[in-house]
Amino acid sequence: MSQIRISSRNFFHNISQIAAKTQSIEKIALVLKDNAYGHGLKIMAELARKAGVRHAVVRRVCEAEAIGGLFETVLVLSELPQETPPEDIHITINSMEAIDRIPKDTTVELKIDTGMHRNGIEPGRFAEALEKISGRGLKLAGVMTHYRSADEMGSEFFWQKKRFDLVREEAVRIGVSGIRWHSCNSAALFRMSGFDEDIARIGIAAYGCLKMPSSFFPPDLMPVMSLWADKIATRELRAGERVGYGGEGVVAEDCRISSYDIGYGDGWPRREYVLPDGRSLVGRVSMDMVCIEGDEERICIFDDASKAAEQLGTIGYEVMTGLSASVKRVVV
Ligand SMILES: *Cc1c(COP(=O)(O)O)cnc(C)c1O
Repeated sequence: MSQIRISSRNFFHNISQIAAKTQSIEKIALVLKDNAYGHGLKIMAELARKAGVRHAVVRRVCEAEAIGGLFETVLVLSELPQETPPEDIHITINSMEAIDRIPKDTTVELKIDTGMHRNGIEPGRFAEALEKISGRGLKLAGVMTHYRSADEMGSEFFWQKKRFDLVREEAVRIGVSGIRWHSCNSAALFRMSGFDEDIARIGIAAYGCLKMPSSFFPPDLMPVMSLWADKIATRELRAGERVGYGGEGVVAEDCRISSYDIGYGDGWPRREYVLPDGRSLVGRVSMDMVCIEGDEERICIFDDASKAAEQLGTIGYEVMTGLSASVKRVVV
């Protein structure tokens, strides 16, 4: 059956590159949202723990519960709990209204909207939010923000960082202490000189698919995921015969064509595509298979999601998270 291979060696390599930049592995909060960017939540949580990572970030409460006990803290980005979660599960506050809806005694981290304008509270309402948080009996453990263009040239990154620093200065003035401050995703971490925050929320770099302009000197990272498919059947075709739905795959010469067990039902895009070894898919992608000239037992669909994404007109994040949870993940 088709399978996703997870290279533990490449993952450990990436984590050590990231730790060199944060200056300590303790400052890495590995982002495991969306099935760990398609790599498998439990698999990556366990590898991360093996690597010495102490903090994780997810999207939902159920993901945090699924990896409970493996990390010192798990930050939930965008779901409010029904009841007070255990202390190691932190809940992100994305709006003023959310503060009213979080159960008492929950550990929370406050998101500041420094310019991305998706969620978080305005910098000008920081003190008000703090009051509301303590008034509701919530425990503040951190303050954070998120950059909208850390991976692009331009000054936006710097003014967002400036706004965040101003909030941090205000916190000092009003006597807030003992909480963690964090603004960086992967691109921001590698762009920043002299990282001085408490943690960095790292997703794509850990999975080895960070794309940045070369002038930012991106680190040497290696893709963790590769996708493989197994042969279903082989046949000999004559020049001019057609393969698959609609007969779109016309073969130019007599050849041998095989089908392999990956398709759009597994989350593989229904598009024209060239394998890493240079062979093109023949005909349309079906729900559960693709066809290729040749007859080997197993083919590699991609070994670098960023490169596959370029051909498919998207980004590595989408290719990886799109792969269905039912495709088997194996650690190699
Ligand atoms: C997804 C996400 C990250 C990780 O971003 P990468 O670019 O994958 O490193 C960090 N912070 C927040 C708030 C996120 O939603």
